[in-house]
Amino acid sequence: MALSVVDIYRDVLPKSNCRDCGFPTCLAFAAKVVSERHPLSGCPHIVADVLARCEIELAEQYSQGKWLKRDMAEDALQWAKSRAASLAIEDLPARIGGELIRTGAETILRLPYFTGHLHICGTTVTRSDGSEMTRYEQVFILNHLAQGGSSEPRGRWKGFIEFPNTVSKMVSMKSAVEEPLIARFSGRKEELFACALRLGALPLPANEGSADVAVVFKALPRVPLALLFWDAVPDDEVQSQAKLMFDETVVDHLDIESIVFLSERLRQLLCD
Ligand code: SF4
Repeated sequence: MALSVVDIYRDVLPKSNCRDCGFPTCLAFAAKVVSERHPLSGCPHIVADVLARCEIELAEQYSQGKWLKRDMAEDALQWAKSRAASLAIEDLPARIGGELIRTGAETILRLPYFTGHLHICGTTVTRSDGSEMTRYEQVFILNHLAQGGSSEPRGRWKGFIEFPNTVSKMVSMKSAVEEPLIARFSGRKEELFACALRLGALPLPANEGSADVAVVFKALPRVPLALLFWDAVPDDEVQSQAKLMFDETVVDHLDIESIVFLSERLRQLLCD
């Protein structure tokens, strides 16, 4: 029999709200267990045989997906993998850049990515230095493999809103990219510029808006990203502003959601 949040709260937990599990209430803990697979053993006050019995029942309902919160990152990754699954690796360098290398019996695409490289084999994407990639990062890389056209960047820059079907993603672009950049670098334009240089950025050839920082990152061989940043002017009560710009060919290489994921990755690299 499946265990609901109420079942666990009412029949399994002590209802003392002691916080030993790290959650503010027993009910909050029960909700995490049922909808996000948080280990029931995180509550140290459950009798051992009750815990063992419940863990078996939970494993059964997890395997059926019952009451589990939708894992959006996993959904996106599986979709991207299905898009990229039938690609011939030999065709990729001509479309998206990079080079093919042999390691043992396998052929791998070695693809420049900011200042490092990715290794792509089938639908497996790893960093050449072995560091871990987020699932959203893998999603936009796989979508790039599937969609990437051979068009080269033209050096004509557009704001995100100028591309079709971006209105619903503007909130994400603002809250997950532009606002964190402003929060992190307001009053610190020199630090932002130094961080950008460490990520291989070059000055943007035409800084038409007279931004304090105007740089271009080569995220992928055919996908550049430009960052414009205007620093705060406290005496004039001018707030900082940040804006990402994209080459007009970006939609040949990435779907709109992947453009947001790539932008988030750039924000993460700069801010972290
Ligand atoms: S440790 Fe157990 S009893 Fe304490 S709040 Fe968490 S779930 Fe409730």
